Parts: sequence; C-alpha cells; structure tokens
Amino acid sequence: MLLRLPTSVSEAQECMAQGAVPIGGATLVWATWQRDGFPELAMSLRDLPEATAVEPESMGAAVVLHRIDDRVPTVLREAAGSVGTGAVRRTATVGGNLVGSSLRCLLPAALVLEARATVLGPDRAYETDLAEVMAKRHLLLGLRWHTPLASGYRKQPAAAGGPPPLVVATAVHADGEGRRRLRVAVRDGYEVLSETTTCDAGAEGALGTLEGTDIGALPPGARDVVREQVADILGPLAGR
Ligand SMILES: Cc1cc2nc3c(=O)[nH]c(=O)nc-3n(C[C@H](O)[C@H](O)[C@H](O)COP(=O)(O)OP(=O)(O)OC[C@H]3O[C@@H](n4cnc5c(N)ncnc54)[C@H](O)[C@@H]3O)c2cc1C
Repeated sequence: MLLRLPTSVSEAQECMAQGAVPIGGATLVWATWQRDGFPELAMSLRDLPEATAVEPESMGAAVVLHRIDDRVPTVLREAAGSVGTGAVRRTATVGGNLVGSSLRCLLPAALVLEARATVLGPDRAYETDLAEVMAKRHLLLGLRWHTPLASGYRKQPAAAGGPPPLVVATAVHADGEGRRRLRVAVRDGYEVLSETTTCDAGAEGALGTLEGTDIGALPPGARDVVREQVADILGPLAGR
C-alpha cells in the first residue's frame, strides 16, 4: 500500500482522482485491511493545514480526538472525550468518527452546533450538510459552526460489548434579534435524531414542544435524560 500525504487541497484532489482511500488513524480499517487485504493507494490528510486546524468555530477532519480541547464548544469537547479509550482518542480522527464509525459519538454534538461540513468533490471543495456527508461518504475536510450561547453533552454509562449507550447533546443559539432556539440531538441505539425548538419560554415550554416531536416517542428513560439535560442548559440562561 502506498500512503500519500497531500499538503494542499489540489494534491488531495489528485490523490482522490487516483482512487486513494481516505484514512484517519486506522483504528477501524486496520483489522479489516489485515483480514481482507490492503488497498493499493491510501491518503491521510494529516499534513493538510485545512484538515488539521482546531479553532473556536471550525475543526479539521484529520484532527485526532484527544486534541479537541476548550478551544471548541463544550458539547464537542465532551463528545470527543467520551469516545473509546485514551489509546483510541490519541489515534482516531474526526473524519473517521463521523464518516467511518457506526457509533459516531461526535455526530449529536455536530448536529446541535448546526455544523456545516466542507467536503472535497472531484473539482472543488464545497460546503454541505452532515446528512449528505454520511449518506454519500464524501471526503470530509472539516466542520464549521457558530459558537452557541451554551451547550452540553451526556453519554450514559455503557456495559462493555452491550448496546450503544444513550447520548443526549444540547445547544442554545441566539438569532440576530435576540431570540433563542434550543437544539437537541439524541443517539438511541445506532439512530440519531435531532429537533429544534424556541426556548424563550424556558425549559417547560421547550420540553412541551419537544414532546410533540420524535423525542416524545423515545423510551421513558431516554426522555428523562432529555428533560434533565434541557433543564441543565436552560436553567442558567433564564433571565440572562
Ligand atoms: C476500543 C474502541 C472503542 C471505541 N469506542 C467508541 C465510542 O465510544 N464512540 C464512538 O463514536 N466511536 C468509538 N469507537 C470507534 C471510533 O470512533 C473509530 O474507531 C474512529 O473514530 C475511527 O477513526 P479513524 O481516524 O481511526 O478512522 P479510520 O479507521 O482511519 O477510517 C475509518 C473509515 O473512515 C473513513 N475516513 C477516515 N477519514 C475520512 C475523511 N476525512 N473523510 C471521509 N472518510 C474518512 C475511512 O476511509 C474508513 O472507511 C471505538 C473504537 C475502538 C477501537
């Protein structure tokens, strides 16, 4: 296997045109490749500046999870910190988690941040939504978002080898006229659902609206966690 390390977007495009398989930390692909054989050509984005930056409102796809710190919103930092073990987090990347993994602990966080994805197409880099990136398994270069007023993340404890633990991510955003909206994303099993509601009337008003959405159809235990997370995020914002 030849591993290419493009240092510019145009070089990455060349690699893509030659059929290079994207690779992050190889925490998922290594075992499969050892079993089924290695691809002829792979490409890592770890030397591409656009894919390695961590900033308050953006993050590259080649960023290793353990580099995600308090430069980014709480929800993203805590999501990254909840993935696997320290050894996995020192190797696994944002792109591998969002595009390659079935658990995708980063996805609920990215959804509540209303993150947009920058992907590399055959002739240019362009912005799209997360659903398209995952459905089409685009080559992800990075994510971009606006800093929320507040955000939170909760992952329930999980038994090893058991079903994926419940994840609830929340973020409150302000629009240009001072109105606030609450985004909630829930991973229940392997499914991730997300909803938005206004929250100027406080936690009870927001929860009432959410009850009428798919969140209201979650099992009672999951709805209790959503209630707690919504109260936790909106409580301190009341009156501010
Ligand atoms: C012990 C263990 C525990 C784990 N626990 C969790 C957990 O709690 N939560 C969780 O969410 N995940 C968990 N995982 C999965 C983990 O998230 C993935 O292993 C990791 O994120 C994959 O990242 P990687 O960079 O190593 O991807 P790789 O193995 O390098 O690649 C995986 C796939 O993603 C593709 N890919 C990589 N980068 C890009 C890109 N930029 N654009 C498009 N496609 C790309 C590759 O082509 C490949 O198909 C765990 C894994 C292990 C081994």
